[in-house]
Amino acid sequence: MHYLRFVIPQQLIQSLQNTKGFKEDSFLETHQSNTPITSIRINPNKSNWSKSLLSIESKIPWCNWGRYLTERPSFTFDPLFHAGAYYVQEASSMFLLQILQQIIGEDTQKKALDLCAAPGGKSTLLASYFANGLLVSNEVIKQRASVLVENITKWGSDNVIVTNNDPKDFKKLSNFFDVIVIDAPCSGSGLFRKDKNAIDEWSQDNVNLCSQRQQRIIADTIDSLSDDGLLIYSTCSYSKQENEDVLDWIKETFDLESVQINLVDEWGIIETQSDLHNAFGYRFYPDKVKGEGFFIAAFKKNGESEISTKFKETILSKPLKNELEIVNNFLKLNDDSYLFKQNEFIRFFPKEYQIELQIIASYLYIKKAGIELGIVKGKDLIPSHELAMSFIDINHLPYFDLNKEQALQYLGKKEVNIDINSKGWALVKFDGVVLGWIKALQNRINNYYPIEWRILKDNLNK
Ligand code: SAM
Repeated sequence: MHYLRFVIPQQLIQSLQNTKGFKEDSFLETHQSNTPITSIRINPNKSNWSKSLLSIESKIPWCNWGRYLTERPSFTFDPLFHAGAYYVQEASSMFLLQILQQIIGEDTQKKALDLCAAPGGKSTLLASYFANGLLVSNEVIKQRASVLVENITKWGSDNVIVTNNDPKDFKKLSNFFDVIVIDAPCSGSGLFRKDKNAIDEWSQDNVNLCSQRQQRIIADTIDSLSDDGLLIYSTCSYSKQENEDVLDWIKETFDLESVQINLVDEWGIIETQSDLHNAFGYRFYPDKVKGEGFFIAAFKKNGESEISTKFKETILSKPLKNELEIVNNFLKLNDDSYLFKQNEFIRFFPKEYQIELQIIASYLYIKKAGIELGIVKGKDLIPSHELAMSFIDINHLPYFDLNKEQALQYLGKKEVNIDINSKGWALVKFDGVVLGWIKALQNRINNYYPIEWRILKDNLNK
């Protein structure tokens, strides 16, 4: 067994010796056995698919939207993957849902912030959970924020604002969010089984740097948590400096109360407590849990602040009257819609959160808010792909069911061979889930799948 010590850094193994739940032999054995675990989380708003190519093994016990698969399929060739019908996410991370359900329960009309959100695993879970609330999904790194936009768009939720800001920009939003999730950048040891590069990059120095960065990120953001608000902190590291020690630092620095979560023994999750303040944390070791290495903890904020903050509000530009008429002829929007314009495109946002959107627009850099419906050209609405992906009711519009081959042609932005008698805009679906728009002309069909998201030729020819 000891030869594995050359692979898993000895310093890490040494540092974990006295950590609750750590068993060196079984931990190393699991890393050696390399049995890959693949899991997905179902999109509850796009779950009426039946011809799924995935072979589902069982439910993930702590997340009712989670499923283990018997094997890892080639997701690129599954049209449902591109349609946002599910998200490929490792199982331990889905424990976030269990925490939310135990602490918040049914009262989900909340304002939530996912501070370190790309590529969007936790955010898509949060968007589904807070379906009646508001989610601000933030990523500081620009390129990663674009991937986040893509995944949020495919997921289809209309109540999400994607921002591209540094954590310290949130200081201006004092007392604003009911829930803040900080899935912090970390040294990544929990993902060693999936990402062998993480092993080469691991060092104790980096663990120390990550720990300091994690504290800085929390310190920059904590003011924006409302009184009684919930803070959820997580990492994919095993190191105590990034986990329990950060919990101790939180207890020492802020007026927050650690929250204990109920566990079922069979889940194999280990409850730990920090050295100084006994704050509860939850460790996921891959030799005990069917998932990757993960750590998560929850805190409630104490106190009542007497100062109510006045925020600036940016008034967003309104569509013209004729544009509204054209949109309303195309779609059947309810009274709960707030429509605004950005770069000539008309966007939808839930009216209930219009003020919050105007506040966020004053302080943060918004990459995407709500759903882009389309752009008015002459007397027509050119519908956007975001609309096709969204939960907005477009069932009255014509649609065509594609078989798998046609669906992959469509997603590769190739010519789609279908017989259409009618002309104009139509949706294409696979297995009941919308893939995007086509427009039927006199003698051809135009494919409106976004070029930047198309399946590349090389993949299709494989
Ligand atoms: N929550 C994501 C998910 O579930 O898909 C994964 C987040 S990943 C663990 C951490 C994220 O933090 C990365 O996207 C990274 O770009 C971002 N990040 C890196 N440095 C940061 C910093 N100084 N402040 C805030 N976020 C940072």
